[in-house]
Amino acid sequence: MSTSVRVRFAPSPTGPLHIGGVRTALFNYLFAKKHNGTFVLRIEDTDQNRYVEGAEDYIINALNWCHIPYDEGPGKEGDCGPYRQSERKSMYKQYALDLIEKGAAYYAFDTAQELQTARENAEAKKETFIYNHNNRNDFTNSLTLSSDEVKERINRGDDYVIRFKPELKTLHMFDEIRKGIEIDTSLIDDKVLFKSDGMPTYHLANVVDDHDMKISHVIRGEEWLPSMALHVLLYESFGWERPKFAHLPLILKPTGKGKLSKRDGDKMGFSVFPLEWKDPKSGEISTGFKQDGFLPETMINILAFLGWNPGTEQEIFSLDELVQAFSLDKVNSSGAKYDPEKAKWFQQQWYVAQDDAVIGAAFAKALEEKDIDYGSQDYVNIVCGLVKERAVFTEDLFELAGFFFTAPDSYDEKAAKKAWKEDTSNIMTDVIKIIEDCTDDSATGLSTAIKGWITTQEMGFGKVMMPLRLSLVGSLMGPDVFEIASMIGKDQTIARIQHAIKKLS
Ligand code: GLU
Repeated sequence: MSTSVRVRFAPSPTGPLHIGGVRTALFNYLFAKKHNGTFVLRIEDTDQNRYVEGAEDYIINALNWCHIPYDEGPGKEGDCGPYRQSERKSMYKQYALDLIEKGAAYYAFDTAQELQTARENAEAKKETFIYNHNNRNDFTNSLTLSSDEVKERINRGDDYVIRFKPELKTLHMFDEIRKGIEIDTSLIDDKVLFKSDGMPTYHLANVVDDHDMKISHVIRGEEWLPSMALHVLLYESFGWERPKFAHLPLILKPTGKGKLSKRDGDKMGFSVFPLEWKDPKSGEISTGFKQDGFLPETMINILAFLGWNPGTEQEIFSLDELVQAFSLDKVNSSGAKYDPEKAKWFQQQWYVAQDDAVIGAAFAKALEEKDIDYGSQDYVNIVCGLVKERAVFTEDLFELAGFFFTAPDSYDEKAAKKAWKEDTSNIMTDVIKIIEDCTDDSATGLSTAIKGWITTQEMGFGKVMMPLRLSLVGSLMGPDVFEIASMIGKDQTIARIQHAIKKLS
């Protein structure tokens, strides 16, 4: 085995990639980059019945969106291609035949009907049917038939599968996350390696390809842990050095009970897919993190903490920082709960850290889509700088900053009750005069003029500040009110106060 680190992400294109899949890809990517290794994408599409149109493109787009592109894979040929198992189809049979030659596999000719009968017989005795060392001699296979008969059956085109014959022993294995694991191989069934349709099963293709692609570390989800013994036995039977294995913990529902599913997301209103997905058959649309407004930086940060932690207090990590900090020793073996609120917290951290101009560009686009005149890009950028601290997504800016672009046409009822008293209209008529006379229309200029006037009137500040804010914003929220007044300009400020006087008197 080559000493360089080569890892692979090996999804089956059976639908959109769940965030658990993206997390597996991420951990492979981080491990590869940390060790100056290669990150391979292999498409495991041997099961043609489960193939879903568009799923492969979706997987590639999702990795690209997260900024974790693969180094070798479909469209990025390296020395170990092709990278789609359907394009490697012709090579697998020889490997299955090699195992027969070595006595580690055999032909089995049992018909579907015969297997069904055996299954029913077992069920009648309340047992689970397993085809293995206990009963393989009762079936129609190359261990029970003469070699002539086997040849004859093959020559006349009888259907057959090739089954694995595991060596009986205590198998010692090591998982980088779970450490030493021992298993009694007599519990393993004689798995089909090669199917009657001429295609390898997942197990054979997976092991052959990992060997052929010189994979040094198999980093994959916990759901594959039960297959590890079979895979290790296959390596042994082929006489190949096995790669190192690391099985990542499951991603659990927010309640911590059971695996996170799309249904949990639907129920609680969050996405479990990185990008939006339209099912090609049903037309059903599933939402994605991207379309929900999450940044790729956030996505990566959220996923990194599902099963890994740096062992320090630091929670915000860029991709480069993750590459530096990542190690398999810090990956936990117990399931990682997905917390949608924590996901939003990560998003907020990443959101405010962006330049005002970046947020501004996205917001200007969103304003344009709603046909809202935003003046200039600079104006939008400044507005974003004033309110971004309270935003989690671009969408939030409409509520937080909409009044910078359009005058309020109604007033929050509770706020109006609190801010607009009987004498307020008169006071605000005076305030208009102060604003008209003020020669410095910067936020500080307006603040000095208005606050100075309030002081000379010996009035409480709230008597002016609250109705002023209500007039400009429509509610009592928002950044510094003089900042708002200065941004929208004197004329607009006065117009809004006049409108409020008319509506609220
Ligand atoms: N094709 C398998 C999957 O969908 C790959 C498992 C593995 O990484 O070995 O997830």
